[in-house]
Amino acid sequence: MLFLLLPKDELSTLFELVSYNAVIGPTQRAISPSGTTIYGYEFLYDFADLVLDHTMTAHSAKEHFLPHIQTVARYTLNGPTWEKKSDHHNAAPTVFFGMHACDINALNKLDRVLLDTAYPDPEYTVRRRNTFIIGIDCVPQPHCFCRSLGCDTVQHGYDMFLTDIGDDYFCEVNSSKAYEVLRGVRTREPDNHANAQFMNASAVRRKSFENEVDTTDLIRILDLEFEAKAWIEWGKRCLSCGTCANVCPTCYCYGAEHEIDLDLKSARKKKRLYSCNIVDFAEVSGGFNFRPESHVRLKYRYYHKHRGFVEAYEEPLCVGCGRCGRACLAGITVPEVIASIREEAAVDG
Ligand code: SF4
Ligand code: SF4
Repeated sequence: MLFLLLPKDELSTLFELVSYNAVIGPTQRAISPSGTTIYGYEFLYDFADLVLDHTMTAHSAKEHFLPHIQTVARYTLNGPTWEKKSDHHNAAPTVFFGMHACDINALNKLDRVLLDTAYPDPEYTVRRRNTFIIGIDCVPQPHCFCRSLGCDTVQHGYDMFLTDIGDDYFCEVNSSKAYEVLRGVRTREPDNHANAQFMNASAVRRKSFENEVDTTDLIRILDLEFEAKAWIEWGKRCLSCGTCANVCPTCYCYGAEHEIDLDLKSARKKKRLYSCNIVDFAEVSGGFNFRPESHVRLKYRYYHKHRGFVEAYEEPLCVGCGRCGRACLAGITVPEVIASIREEAAVDG
């Protein structure tokens, strides 16, 4: 890994340099009724709109890589046959300017399923391959527990990563593309003082995480507590709205649907992100529903993230961002659900 110091007053030059491509970055989206700023990732055309000291965005970077609704194919009737056209090879090169470690870790997890696999998702793959990522350290928030899941830092899946050390950013250069881009701005090699500042900033940040989730033996506890009463209690509270999956950076389940135009000569295939908490998620043709009860659907969401995915990939499908708990109108949070199952296991024991 190569490290460079990037003076803060050079950041606008870096922004201008990469602006030959589309740039997405964190910016202010709205003010909530309680007066707090709601941040989101948006296409940016002006450096002044980039807010690098943002707290967590309401939605994650998934919005760009897995849009909520995508047209994946278009069909035109040509004589007796339908001609199919897919334009997923045309994703424009994009720069993501200012992504937190948890969101990069979430992309790395999605890569396991959608990219590094025998049948990669073409739309996801082309977006991921064509995106240059500039990461930046976050300020830990009260609802996040990423440290418990090892997602407070990130080792790969980005091009450069910035840590604020005062007048400069301590910049980890993680790709040859990043190295080439940085040749266009004023940088210098870090000296011992800068290295110490970086280590100190990392230590201060580590200490400021407030929330912890005990994940010891979680996979076994989930196996033992499949019939735990706590699932039923959480299910009674769940509104089956799907908001948790919508804001989650790692939920990727989707449904496919066809739209046929009234002239019956053209059609489209659309992919729509879905949530396993929604009542008809497991409904099959004929109307049979494999998971009609809300507590069963909620339970399976946790089993996918903290049991099945761990068994398949040796890591949970959760980065501990806390977005789901923050957005849930029923106040259901991952730390509380896991703690309740752990408690029941302790009582049963
Ligand atoms: S857990 Fe919360 S956000 Fe998720 S479906 Fe249930 S009520 Fe909605
Ligand atoms: S399950 Fe909740 S805490 Fe975990 S990654 Fe998804 S939104 Fe974040």
